[in-house]
Amino acid sequence: MSTAPLRYKKILLKVSGEFLMGDAPFGIDPKTLEAVAEDIAEVVRHGAELCLVTGGGNIFRGVSLAGRGMERASADYMGMLATVMNALALQGALEKIGVYTRVQSAIPMEAVCEPYIRRRALRHLEKGRVVIFAAGLGAPFFTTDTPAALRAAEMGCDALFKGTSVDGVYTADPKKDANAKRYDSLSYQEVLAKDLRVMDASAISLMRDNQIPIVVFSIRERGNFLKVLQGEGVYTTIA
Ligand code: UDP
Repeated sequence: MSTAPLRYKKILLKVSGEFLMGDAPFGIDPKTLEAVAEDIAEVVRHGAELCLVTGGGNIFRGVSLAGRGMERASADYMGMLATVMNALALQGALEKIGVYTRVQSAIPMEAVCEPYIRRRALRHLEKGRVVIFAAGLGAPFFTTDTPAALRAAEMGCDALFKGTSVDGVYTADPKKDANAKRYDSLSYQEVLAKDLRVMDASAISLMRDNQIPIVVFSIRERGNFLKVLQGEGVYTTIA
């Protein structure tokens, strides 16, 4: 294993719900959960301070029911609750392999986890705990991209990592277009102007305003998170 130093010390990783379902059509795939926990543990063992934001698309997305007649705000609250389920699943998987964690929810639910308190989260990070932020912003009409960017800024992260099923940002969807080319690097402005849909525009502009780079990489292959953090392998940097 490479001993190259980490390019960033304090990182926020966004783990999409969709990724956690693996090849299943819904829910959490235990093998995928275990694999991502192992990758996170490896990065923590290399000295990174790590926070996570969980998505909820494997369980529920507000827009899907809103599109079929449900009030959008209520549907989005259901989506936020789905992100809490994923956060608890990740916490369980991480603690099983010896990584100390805390879950903080933007919607207070004391019996389940801590409420989001910025200073407390910073203290957890200093103590080497992985902080998992759940329930997004606690506000409807967002996906988890914007909370990921906001928490990265609030925690003073050096980079925002977006783990996806493809190894970076492409000119077109590589699953549909054989001629799609991967970008090594992009500016925030290019992503916005080309409407590349890497993340929500609000997340990209928040990262631009705070000069926090976004690294888009594939989280599917075991060990890739650490590799990319060491500047090896394939990924796209937006800065
Ligand atoms: N959501 C929300 N506000 C937030 C974060 C999430 O309303 O600040 C809701 C929204 O309905 C969203 C769902 O939670 O669709 C799940 O998050 P997301 O779609 O980002 O999941 P992912 O794509 O990462 O699996």
